[in-house]
Amino acid sequence: MNAAPSPTRTEALDRLARFVPTAGRDYAARRNFDLPGQGHPHVSRLSPYLRHRLVTEEEVLQSVLGRYSLATAEKFVAEVCWRTYWKGWLERRPSAWADYRRELDQVDLTGVAEAESGQTDIAAFNDWVQELTETGYLHNHARMWVASIWIFTLRLPWQAGADFFMRHLLDGDPASNTLSWRWVAGLQTHGKHYVARAANIAKYTDGRHDPAGRLAAHPAPLNGPPHPSPRPVPVTGAPQPGVRTGVLLHEDDLSLSFLLDHLDTPVVAHAGLLSAGLRSPGLVSPNVMSFAEGALSDTMTRWGDRFGDAGPVSNSVDNICAWAEAAGLEQVVTPYAPVGPTASMLRRLRRALDAQDIELVEVLRPWDSAAWAHTTHGFFKFKKQIPQLVEDFVKMPKSTS
Ligand SMILES: Cc1cc2nc3c(=O)[nH]c(=O)nc-3n(C[C@H](O)[C@H](O)[C@H](O)COP(=O)(O)OP(=O)(O)OC[C@H]3O[C@@H](n4cnc5c(N)ncnc54)[C@H](O)[C@@H]3O)c2cc1C
Repeated sequence: MNAAPSPTRTEALDRLARFVPTAGRDYAARRNFDLPGQGHPHVSRLSPYLRHRLVTEEEVLQSVLGRYSLATAEKFVAEVCWRTYWKGWLERRPSAWADYRRELDQVDLTGVAEAESGQTDIAAFNDWVQELTETGYLHNHARMWVASIWIFTLRLPWQAGADFFMRHLLDGDPASNTLSWRWVAGLQTHGKHYVARAANIAKYTDGRHDPAGRLAAHPAPLNGPPHPSPRPVPVTGAPQPGVRTGVLLHEDDLSLSFLLDHLDTPVVAHAGLLSAGLRSPGLVSPNVMSFAEGALSDTMTRWGDRFGDAGPVSNSVDNICAWAEAAGLEQVVTPYAPVGPTASMLRRLRRALDAQDIELVEVLRPWDSAAWAHTTHGFFKFKKQIPQLVEDFVKMPKSTS
């Protein structure tokens, strides 16, 4: 078994540096191969770091586009932008997350325990389950195959599968996960579903698996209601200058430099809000918890000297509120958290702080604000905006190939 990935920005930057040479044609040609035995050599494995923003989308694109032209790295750039797109899509249609969480309480769980413990009669599926629960990672193609087999061959509820992923993926993310499961099921692009095929699995696992004759051959897509109309992109307030200010770190955005552009006042204290335990109503795996906690504490160490006294890392709104009071804060500034458990906790925190006359100011990252404006339709339309986003947000040296 691989060692658990270190939840630090240093490791994120090391991974990025190691990956960049393969981000061009190699990635375009080989990214679909699922090769866990070789350590997944053709993909970046940056997702746990991007998910917690130990490294940002802009930084990753800057490194890759510092080496390759946008045309050469087009595939990789598009994949990174899928994450931004899904986040914006869900942010503007939050009912997709609320509905999923509500339905999760209502679905029939018969057969789910066997699938989750890798006791089906499909060896490939069982292997991926083991990889997921042991390492907290699955290759994108394996995620598609697992989700498809889960929904169409095992005929289990997609919501339970999405929750299984959220409990075990180190990169478990409300937007990418929920919307990808919906996409496989045929609910995201209506009528279009993803059907896992044995020949495709055999090819892209390099012959490691070949579940011929075991997969549903012609399943119908699931049906669902039409998408709601998108709500506007959130507009966030600006921190007040000259008031006693604390910074609250949270696991949805641990790259804090952009906050400095908005802070016209010294920061006297900082604390961390941990919401990983709420990614699922069930028990989130210890690997996921320790990655999120480690990422928060790495960030507190890196930023501690600029952000005053260190407060607690806590999963309790009451504790964070007590910290803000004890530090005599007049405002708490934090990166904007998109739809998901952190956003729900921040809503509760806002009410608790309001009662103490302390303001909570969420600041939306300019990349998100600009990109989310284009999440009105499908990814194809969004993709046309990528060159402009790159030009506006990615400061790059001249490319060499
Ligand atoms: C059913 C299913 C569930 C998924 N759940 C999650 C999840 O909870 N969290 C998550 O981060 N991704 C999720 N994905 C997307 C994707 O599988 C992972 O982001 C990717 O496999 C991460 O591995 P990597 O970093 O090596 O990717 P690379 O191929 O190296 O891609 C680079 C980065 O681009 C982004 N990216 C790549 N592919 C996608 C994609 N299809 N959608 C969104 N972003 C992408 C990721 O941030 C990734 O780190 C899911 C996909 C499926 C099909």
